[in-house]
Amino acid sequence: MILNQPKHRHYDVIILGSGPAGITTALELSKESSLKIAVIESGLLEPHPTIQTLASVQLHGDLPDFYFPMHTQRCFGGTSTIWGGFCAVLEKRAFTAQAWPVPYQEINRWYPAAARILELPNDAYRQPMVAIEGTSELVYKPFYLSPPVRFSKKYHSFFQHHPRVDLILGTTGLRLKTRGRTVTALELQDSLAPLLSPTLVSADTFVLACGGVGNPRLLQLSDIVAPMPVGLGLMEHPHIYAVADMYLDRDRLPVGIEDDPRVVHALQLSDSYCLENGVLSFSADFNLKQTTPAVLLGTRREMLYTPVAIRAEIAPDSRNSVRDSDQRNYLGLPMPRVDFHYRYHDLARESWHLFGKALLRSGLGRPSVLQPEFRVHDGGHLMGTTRMGLSAADSVVDSNCRVHTTDNLYVAGSSVFPAGGASNPTYTIVAMALRLGAHLASTLKGKAHG
Ligand SMILES: Cc1cc2nc3c(=O)[nH]c(=O)nc-3n(C[C@H](O)[C@H](O)[C@H](O)COP(=O)(O)OP(=O)(O)OC[C@H]3O[C@@H](n4cnc5c(N)ncnc54)[C@H](O)[C@@H]3O)c2cc1C
Repeated sequence: MILNQPKHRHYDVIILGSGPAGITTALELSKESSLKIAVIESGLLEPHPTIQTLASVQLHGDLPDFYFPMHTQRCFGGTSTIWGGFCAVLEKRAFTAQAWPVPYQEINRWYPAAARILELPNDAYRQPMVAIEGTSELVYKPFYLSPPVRFSKKYHSFFQHHPRVDLILGTTGLRLKTRGRTVTALELQDSLAPLLSPTLVSADTFVLACGGVGNPRLLQLSDIVAPMPVGLGLMEHPHIYAVADMYLDRDRLPVGIEDDPRVVHALQLSDSYCLENGVLSFSADFNLKQTTPAVLLGTRREMLYTPVAIRAEIAPDSRNSVRDSDQRNYLGLPMPRVDFHYRYHDLARESWHLFGKALLRSGLGRPSVLQPEFRVHDGGHLMGTTRMGLSAADSVVDSNCRVHTTDNLYVAGSSVFPAGGASNPTYTIVAMALRLGAHLASTLKGKAHG
């Protein structure tokens, strides 16, 4: 049912936020037939200019001023209302380097179901990377394109007709109330009536799915912080466009690579090459459209020619953070202050150098020199602010996405990523939300209040 205020005073599970993370968690959780679930969303069915201002932050650092008001959408479906649909499985290296405290297989097994939600071809999980003959330093990495799925359109009727899942719109979660290790209630405010008194709704279990800034903010505003690094280690994916070219020998690429509007082709440093050289994931897109005569290994021949777009990974850095600012929004809440610097130029040059050496060594092609000056762009990907880990000293959630210092509060979304690879995050967000939904369904089975 779609409502503008909670129908019940108590739910078995409350999910705050209706982007891909919140909706997917609700879909999976709703399979457990005893549970009464509420998805509470700040925005309305369509974007609303006043409510959208709740996404504004006080910004310090490299991100452009329009980043937040434009990039985090406050409406049903969240930022999936504007996302581009690029999808790729997260690199295994993030798991082997033990950044993620769970085995790769744990996440990997949810990618097929996530591909169905995002309407991706089966190759998205069957062929996330392909080895290239003659080199172990580079792999072919396709990025698969979702149509892109707009979660608000695809799942509107699910919420409209579901007897046990309420979607409550135009209602902003202000803060969580706690008693000891238990979250008891959520304080809510009508998003368009700041003068009305806030109300409380209780639940046995709460899930925050408010995005990479919204999740740490809710914890901070609820004083669920110490000793955890809440809000620290914000990551983005550096994107660098048209700063170099490369020439590739078409015959040396893995067989079956075709021009396909639903695939973006890329070469990526292999996980083992990254580990060996102490660098992070780095991929360079190429297209199959243009050929030109060029010299490779002393022979002049027809080669693929492509300007390069780079998509890469940065490490978490606690100086990149989400905290309180000295400004308030129209609901009276302190706005977040976001400090973010890529600090990526040196690593970009080193990674391009390694990439170029690998390309030449493999005989697959050759790169041009990276331009001396270049600008790093964003991907709209906010990760790492409630990172997953083994203890409250260095992380915020455990391997089941439960906040370490509570018994009944969970987080969904890329804020839990301890490492983000160079893969766009939403495919993994959806896989992780399915995993969380299934975990909660099995934990709460038989415990529902009905
Ligand atoms: C321009 C752009 C292009 C992108 N392209 C891609 C791409 O090609 N591939 C890819 O993988 N990713 C892409 N992304 C990123 C992708 O959109 C996000 O990864 C994804 O939407 C995150 O899902 P989420 O559910 O965690 O958060 P969101 O989609 O941001 O949803 C969070 C929801 O929580 C709600 N909310 C927040 N705070 C509160 C509160 N206090 N109370 C109630 N509700 C609240 C918000 O209104 C929102 O609906 C792109 C992003 C942008 C901006």
